Amino acid sequence: MSTAISIAWKSIIIALVVLALKIVAAWLSDSVALYSDAVESIVNVFTAIAALAAILIAARPPDENHPYGHEKAEYFAAMAEAVLIGAAAFAILSQAWFTYHDRQMLNVPAEAFAANILAGIVNGVWCLILIRKGRALRSTALEAEGWHLFSDVMSSLGVLVGIMAAKITGIAILDPLLAVFVAANILWSGWQLMKTSILGLMDTAPDDDIIDTIRTAIAEEGNGALEAHDLRARLSGPVTFIEFHLVVDGQLSVNKAHNICDRIEDRLLVEIPNSRIIIHVEPEYKAEEHNSISI
Ligand code: ZN
Ligand code: ZN
Repeated sequence: MSTAISIAWKSIIIALVVLALKIVAAWLSDSVALYSDAVESIVNVFTAIAALAAILIAARPPDENHPYGHEKAEYFAAMAEAVLIGAAAFAILSQAWFTYHDRQMLNVPAEAFAANILAGIVNGVWCLILIRKGRALRSTALEAEGWHLFSDVMSSLGVLVGIMAAKITGIAILDPLLAVFVAANILWSGWQLMKTSILGLMDTAPDDDIIDTIRTAIAEEGNGALEAHDLRARLSGPVTFIEFHLVVDGQLSVNKAHNICDRIEDRLLVEIPNSRIIIHVEPEYKAEEHNSISI
């Protein structure tokens, strides 16, 4: 089982544990805030399942219907998480609005606080693991889930701070101000996820440093060829698709030209793991002056 898949499974289990803790917290108190926090957690169980489904689909090898692979499936899960992050931001703002206007929040026993705080800690630790692992594995779905959990941790924190402030009072204006700051941060992370997904779905070119790595690999491993041009690359989740034209002496044997291609491919696979490379070989009269890679 790949690491991403096993992390996605653990995520579902953790979402269930957190949901159970929040139900206990809501049940022990009459707090509407804690109740709505628990309801929000149900959504997390579903998004954890959606992330697992997306990762399982993405992990399938290319087939007849999807000859370029299924990696983009992860972007859909990430977009769904981005939308929910946006919703969380507005929930925090409306929560802040209510606590600001109605500060008589009542009986919240210590056990309920404790259960809610414990749920927040479990979520907080797990969201950091998800974001770190998601980045390392280039799994957009895992990273998105991590940011979504982060937005939940922040909103739970907002709920607790709101209740505390309601109990203590006096610093009422600090509470909504904090909520606005938290909501803005969360909206920003949601927008970043949305952007990553849109760029991936639109086959946007990879960052300049990846293009530079490719150009250097061609220049250094292409001995025997004359130049390369029409380099194009795109990202699909963890996969990088690379293609270019390689100009060789028209009299060079197919065997020799193919050896040059293999050498460049081997180097690219080391420098950019998970790359899929197509090289189109051309004779010298096809050489181009503009933007070519000299070898
Ligand atoms: Zn060409
Ligand atoms: Zn070959």
